[in-house]
Amino acid sequence: MGQIEKSKNKIKVVAPPQGYQGEGFFATKLSEVIGLARANSVWPLPFATSCCGIEFMATMASNYDLARFGMERLSFSPRQSDLLMVMGTISKKMAPVLRQVYEQMAEPKWVLAMGACASSGGIFDSYSVLQGIDKVIPVDVYVPGCPPRPEQLIEGVMKIHELVKTESLRRRYTKEYQKLLESYNIS
Ligand code: SF4
Repeated sequence: MGQIEKSKNKIKVVAPPQGYQGEGFFATKLSEVIGLARANSVWPLPFATSCCGIEFMATMASNYDLARFGMERLSFSPRQSDLLMVMGTISKKMAPVLRQVYEQMAEPKWVLAMGACASSGGIFDSYSVLQGIDKVIPVDVYVPGCPPRPEQLIEGVMKIHELVKTESLRRRYTKEYQKLLESYNIS
């Protein structure tokens, strides 16, 4: 009885994809399964340059715990990561480095800009600060704030998960995507 109650109280960590089910079977699309697997095993590359990075550290720690989403494996190697998280002020001198990191990441890859500085230059409207990382690389999700609270960052990460889950497997081969990269002079 105790065991039954335990299984009744099981917490569903990951919702199954859309599909058809009956006795002894469950059918869905391959893209749904791949999307589900990708979304729950995102490997982030934290490109943290200033205060927003500290807020990110708080988000990684036990109170907020990004590991709940399978994201505890931070990658400081671009070739082994699929989410570039840019957190902090990016100077114009650093822009080529950020771009090189982006180019070294394998497809499919996503980009999150955390905070006002990464999104738009923030309060640093000066000759030396890049006025938003989307001047040099495409961005998927912007998280507003100076700094954003961990809850806001988690909201942004969940938006990324939605994109990952629902992205067509063909998107990276489409003309629109090629055009987007060309607009950034990325081949
Ligand atoms: S947005 Fe605010 S908190 Fe984040 S890096 Fe810029 S100044 Fe610091």
